[in-house]
This record gives sequence, C-alpha cells and structure tokens, in this order.
Amino acid sequence: MFLQSMAPVATAAREIAAAADLNTLEQIRLQWLGKKGALTQAMQQLGQLSPEARREAGQLLNERKLEVQLLLQERKEQLERAVIQARLQQERLDVTLPGRRVAGGSTHPIRQTLEWIEHYFSRLGFETSDGPEIEDDYHNFSALNIPEDHPARAMHDTFYLDARRLLRTQTSTVQIRFLEMHQPPLRMIATGRVYRRDSDVTHTPMFHQVEGLLLDEHASFADLRGLLADFLQEFFAKPDLPVRFRPSYFPFTEPSAEIDIGCLICGGSGCRVCKQTGWLEVLGCGMVHPVVLAGAGIDGERFGGFAFGMGVERLTMLRYGVNDLRLFFENDLRFLKQFS
Ligand SMILES: [Zn+2]
Repeated sequence: MFLQSMAPVATAAREIAAAADLNTLEQIRLQWLGKKGALTQAMQQLGQLSPEARREAGQLLNERKLEVQLLLQERKEQLERAVIQARLQQERLDVTLPGRRVAGGSTHPIRQTLEWIEHYFSRLGFETSDGPEIEDDYHNFSALNIPEDHPARAMHDTFYLDARRLLRTQTSTVQIRFLEMHQPPLRMIATGRVYRRDSDVTHTPMFHQVEGLLLDEHASFADLRGLLADFLQEFFAKPDLPVRFRPSYFPFTEPSAEIDIGCLICGGSGCRVCKQTGWLEVLGCGMVHPVVLAGAGIDGERFGGFAFGMGVERLTMLRYGVNDLRLFFENDLRFLKQFS
C-alpha cells in the first residue's frame, strides 16, 4: 500500500519539477500536504496500525513529508528568482538610447527687436535707462509740454488710475526722469511698455516703445537725420533703403518730423500695406523743445539736441513681414518658433 512504496515521493517530485509558476506549485503543495493532502491523510491512517508498525510507518511518512517539503521549497525559490529575472528584463533601461530632448525656448521677436535696438545705440554711446509704467501726470504730460488743456492729451486715450496717476502712454516720460538725474552732454535710450485705450487689428492696449535722447553743445538736425537713416538701413538690412523726413508736430520737439521708409513690400510702386503711397511711417523725432529743456533746468542757449521715438511692434512686423499685430501676444508656439 501507500506507506510501503516510494512511488508517492517520485510522483510529487515530478509534479513539483513540472510546476511552471507559483500558483501551480501551491496547488501541488495542497494536494500533498494540505488538510486533505495525500500525506496528511496517510498520517491520519497511522492510528489503525499496530504500535510497532505505526512507529516504523510514522518515521517513513515523516521522512517523505520532509522530502516533499524540501522539493517544494527549492522549486518555490527557483520560480521566485525567475519572476524577478523576468521583471528585470522587462523593465531594463537602455542608458545608451538618446534622451528625450528638452524643448528649447527662444527669445520673443519683440524682445529680439528691443535687444537689437539697445545694442545698436549702445555702440554709439547711448546709455540704457528706464522708468515706471505707472506714471504721474507731470512726467507723462506737463513736463513734455502737454499742459492740462492741450489737445494732444485727448489723442493719447489714457488709462487713468486716479486723478493724478496713469499708465504711461509713451516712453518719453523716461526722458524727463533721466534729465532730473543727469546733466548734458548725454545720450540716453529707453525701451518699455506703454498703454493706450485702443484695440483693433493694428492697435493693442499695451505695446512697446523706444525713446532716444541726445543733448550736447552742437547736436544738429543733420546729426539726427544721419543717425536715424543709418539706424533704419541697418535694422532692415538694406543699405539703399529710401528714408524721407516729413514735417510733423509733437509738443515736446520743435521742429518735429516723421520718418518714412520706402515700402518694403512693393519697393515703392504702391500696395495695400503702404496704402498705395510707396512709403511706410516708422518713426517720430525732432529737436528737443526749449520748454522741455527749461523745465528740466537745462541751459537751452548752451545745450540742445534731439529726441526720437518708435513703436517696437510696428518695426518688428515690417522687419519680419508679420501682418497681424495680435500674433505677438497670442503665444502660439508655431508662430514663435519661426524666430528661434
Ligand atoms: Zn507698398
């Protein structure tokens, strides 16, 4: 019978060796050693034997039970190692694979223009300055020869914060602040945001301006012409770019001029962008008004010079052929990546 034969152990050994995973192995363990397992039941039958036979059979059974337990343990360890190996294989990292590239940003086209302009003028000895975006009435208007009843105030569509404070409508405010701290001879350039209550295809409530100021004992309108013509020809990378000065009016300069360049789109023959004139307006400038100099406590008999201002968005649009101002503020990466 069962007890006299080694066959059960051989069978168990075969089954254990064939178990392909831990679940199957557990089933085999239950079959042999579980509550209703073959060896457990054989143990329970020992009681029916005579005392001598019981001892001998008991010993034999214990040995078999131990042997099966050992085989089970061994196989369990093998299978557990295999599981770990399989997982390691599956989760292996190839450290030699090229990494995921970090998407690099680039400088915004408006910022690129600002930096280009600052660099151009710094080479000519212009010091970079700035001022607050929340300004007072005095720096934004009165000190620039725009008194309270002046019609130019209405043209500015100002954002007022309260009776005296406002969001600056022009970077010319920095001229005044700079003159409070410096004595001529001086050369200053200021870049920054300005605000006006204006919003359509070609206007945004916030835009960027550049302001320049040069004061010394012999600056002339000819110097102004030469400087700004060269600036525009370099900025648009066209040495033969036509530049013309047109008489204009600004409260803080006298005489004043607006500068046009030959249309970059049609080359002067007339198109939609230049409204068939062949010219594009890009800059305002003039000789600093004596009233502004006097207000800053500067001897207008001895010192004089010129100031100029320009819209950075407009220059950038013309330089890169961008036809919608709003593209600069929408942060669409497909647009911005073209400037990297
Ligand atoms: Zn044109």
